[in-house]
Amino acid sequence: MAYIVPPKYVRHILVTLQSHGHQAFLVGGSTRDMLLGRVPLDWDISTSALPEQVMEIFPDCEATGLKHGTVTVKINSRSAEVTTFRSEGSYTDHRHPDMVSFVGDLTTDLSRRDFTMNAIAFSPDGLMADPFDGCTDIENRLIRAVGLPQLRFQEDALRMFRAVRFSARLGFEIEQETLDAIKIKAHLAAEVAAERVRDEIEKILLSPAPEKVFDLIEYGLMDSYLLSRPDHITDGGALSKLPRKKALYRWTCLCAVLEHYGCIESAESFLTALKMDKRRIRLCTDAAFILTTSIPETTVEWKRLLNKYGVDSVSCAAAVGDVLKHDEPYTKELKSILKSGECFSLKHLAVTGDDLMTLGLSGRELGEMLQFLLDYVMEFPQFNQHDLLLSLAKGTEE
Ligand code: ATP
Ligand code: MG
Repeated sequence: MAYIVPPKYVRHILVTLQSHGHQAFLVGGSTRDMLLGRVPLDWDISTSALPEQVMEIFPDCEATGLKHGTVTVKINSRSAEVTTFRSEGSYTDHRHPDMVSFVGDLTTDLSRRDFTMNAIAFSPDGLMADPFDGCTDIENRLIRAVGLPQLRFQEDALRMFRAVRFSARLGFEIEQETLDAIKIKAHLAAEVAAERVRDEIEKILLSPAPEKVFDLIEYGLMDSYLLSRPDHITDGGALSKLPRKKALYRWTCLCAVLEHYGCIESAESFLTALKMDKRRIRLCTDAAFILTTSIPETTVEWKRLLNKYGVDSVSCAAAVGDVLKHDEPYTKELKSILKSGECFSLKHLAVTGDDLMTLGLSGRELGEMLQFLLDYVMEFPQFNQHDLLLSLAKGTEE
């Protein structure tokens, strides 16, 4: 297998730990990604050194998860997580171990990890520990639970979401027994905190295979957030046609599809249950609402929407509309309106509230007049001129 070489600072941490008489290995996603020839998102190091010993060896560090034995070590402003070999006690809440204990051996540490591909250790001198045959699974592109899959999901239900997330990110299949266990233990997904579920969904939505989010639904992992499971979703492919950097476009698309199939009451209720922040909920809800109720047919209708919901929500609705309604040129039309510079908000109206005050208007009357002028200008953009609008206001008043 072709693999990526860890950067100098990571090798420095490993070698320094070894020179102090400790064992030190790259583990988890770092080793998996290196073996896949991908640059890891973060560098995880596992060591026999206790957290206090790690902190003594590397003064520039932060005790980021002492309870779990994790210390973040910084070398010239770059960092890696160094975690002491550990084993985990029982899991009463199907999510967190009741206790963790530090252990002296690597194999015990590897056996607490979720999937065989994430349970390979790699030392700087090229030594590899692969007690669960993760390399073979990587070669065969398989996600397989370490140990008994049902037991592992019973311990920590988040692992089921991680399995689907890795299948979306890496394009791997979930091995049959592991998949069967997910379907059997899916009800435990209700025990996972909404924020964690939301983060896993977002990672899937931003992966090269965002449609795998519907696997979560098919396996029953989303039951506590849905009114029902859809029989067969045909427009899942729309998600991957949306730009990868636009998480909210993909969320809106997901909401629109789920709403269409009657699986959720509204984008707002679904995203609120997932504890998304208020600003993002507003944007997705407005965009999903535009999509399901009022995709415009004329330029004036677009401008009215821009005025009511703002550019971000309307752009999102247009982009999702394009992919869901089979390449309707909504985005193209919207872009040309935005490019034209035509007025759709009070900010760009050629008269202001102060101008109208000079005509003796105030309070509600003034507000209504501004809205009237804005409506007028949205329909007749060529009349967005100061004097003209002022005389129109005067005329209307009289
Ligand atoms: P990513 O590329 O997203 O960082 P990762 O596999 O590195 O993926 P992390 O969340 O960084 O995931 O976790 C590092 C390692 O810790 C994993 O590879 C796995 O070995 C172990 N791990 C993480 N979460 C769990 C879990 N819920 N149960 C068991 N092992 C876990
Ligand atoms: Mg990682």
